[in-house]
Amino acid sequence: MPLIGVARGIYLIGGPMLTHMLDANVYLVLSEKRKGVVIDSGTGLGFENMLRNILELGINPFKDIEYVILTHCHIDHAGGASALYYGLGVKTVAHEPDSLFIREGNPDKTLAKKLGLEFKPSPITVNLRKEYETLEVDGMVFEIIHTPGHTQGSISVYFEIHGNKVLALGDAILSEEQTEDFHALKRSLSKILRYDFEIVLGGHDYISKNGRAFIEEFLMKLKVK
Ligand SMILES: [Zn+2]
Ligand SMILES: [Zn+2]
Repeated sequence: MPLIGVARGIYLIGGPMLTHMLDANVYLVLSEKRKGVVIDSGTGLGFENMLRNILELGINPFKDIEYVILTHCHIDHAGGASALYYGLGVKTVAHEPDSLFIREGNPDKTLAKKLGLEFKPSPITVNLRKEYETLEVDGMVFEIIHTPGHTQGSISVYFEIHGNKVLALGDAILSEEQTEDFHALKRSLSKILRYDFEIVLGGHDYISKNGRAFIEEFLMKLKVK
């Protein structure tokens, strides 16, 4: 299946139906001048399909993609980082301590062992340590928010594009079994709700156009527990 347009300037270029059944969603965000930032990388097993989707958009994958922002270290999100870094020269961005697990290819923390896969280690170009950081690419501003809970180094990304206010969440909103630290997650979600956004790009099934209500509802469920 080819890529999917999510909103103007945002494309789903990877995911279970698009690239490989184990891949989390991979988004490509394009500036007016067609410079790109990729959010998450998939496992790497569907890399060739992802490349085909990038080419289909008329983007030169060697020249036009500046960064891949890795929402956390799990292999379905970060396993393709090394292919983007070594294969295409894309700079990698991740938050500590997940950035360390990606660099060392930690088989436990990345869940590679659990899935019977091998995590290919990748250098991290931009190693985030703070609660809030900003990344600018060709007039686009990405606000990176440290939102631990699912993993210690999970991040969410807020940006505006063509009038749309967007939040990419990675796996921040998943079930209890898939959350390392529930207290941290509650704080993270409260932090996220200070942002004004409509579109939520999830790591797996959901791409919600009514994102606020979606997160508020999830937070309510957590609070009543
Ligand atoms: Zn995950
Ligand atoms: Zn995931």
